[in-house]
Amino acid sequence: MTTYVTKFPAEADRYRAPSLLEGALRTELTPEGCDLGYWFRAVPEGTLGGDAMGRSADVPVPAHMLEEGPLRQALMQELAFRSMAEEKAARAISFLVAYAPDLAAMDFYTSQLMDEARHAYAFRSHLLELGTPADQLEETMESLAGADRDAVLTPLEEFGLSVLEKDRDYIGGVITLTVLVEGVLAPTAELSERKWRPFDPPAAEIERAAGIDEIRHLSVGSTIVRRHLRRYPEELDRVRELVARGMDVWSRLPVQELTFRRERLYQAGLERHGDIAGDYELWPGRRLVDTTAEERMLAAAEWACTTQESRLADMGLTP
Ligand code: FE
Ligand code: FE
Repeated sequence: MTTYVTKFPAEADRYRAPSLLEGALRTELTPEGCDLGYWFRAVPEGTLGGDAMGRSADVPVPAHMLEEGPLRQALMQELAFRSMAEEKAARAISFLVAYAPDLAAMDFYTSQLMDEARHAYAFRSHLLELGTPADQLEETMESLAGADRDAVLTPLEEFGLSVLEKDRDYIGGVITLTVLVEGVLAPTAELSERKWRPFDPPAAEIERAAGIDEIRHLSVGSTIVRRHLRRYPEELDRVRELVARGMDVWSRLPVQELTFRRERLYQAGLERHGDIAGDYELWPGRRLVDTTAEERMLAAAEWACTTQESRLADMGLTP
């Protein structure tokens, strides 16, 4: 029997990494372990296969994604929105780099900053692959997702920057990022990768690569928070209060409306192109073509609850 071995750590290997949800719950990584040496060994080749977008060169964009229609519209809105979100994350992380208390953390957030800038680049580059003229990319993104950015991303960013930039609160910033932003979004990202897989394989590959990065961000972020709370148990109340305030900000954002609008577009596309999805299963035992917009949203919400609960427990943040 031959054992398949690559030189890349399994959790960062595009062929062996767990799914984002699995990885978020079970991978234990530290900032010292994920140092710059690790990043350079693992990410450019292991995760990305040498491609800045993290997609294989020989997987073309299918013709049905180039036709005007609800499927294409749903994907383009999502890519524009997510590219904007990643851009905001990258900019906010610059404060974590600035205020990191030690070199391991500074190096780690430098690598995460690069990851998030790359995600923004990869999502918007796929808009180009979908036929957006390069000189109209910015205005196209603005019309696809500018209003959603203002309604959802800007208030979140304001919250994050009040912690990071105004209060210069490093650990508060780590918590905002890992609990309130990445932790909340991971299940949606997982669902998205799965639902685009049959319709737009390059988009799914791009999401998969970003998801592998996300496993590292979530895992190292949890480690940093857990260590901090063990070392400074007197911080627990303050941190809990911050999480509660952040959750409250989330609860006021029109995220459900936005997601539902995109899911309905996707549903219209799914009905039109159901033959392409065939028997593809969105999760074991459930064919994508049999799902509804409501069902998919509910599944992501349930994943979000389970992931969030177990991550908070893992950080020592359960009530
Ligand atoms: Fe990201
Ligand atoms: Fe991330």
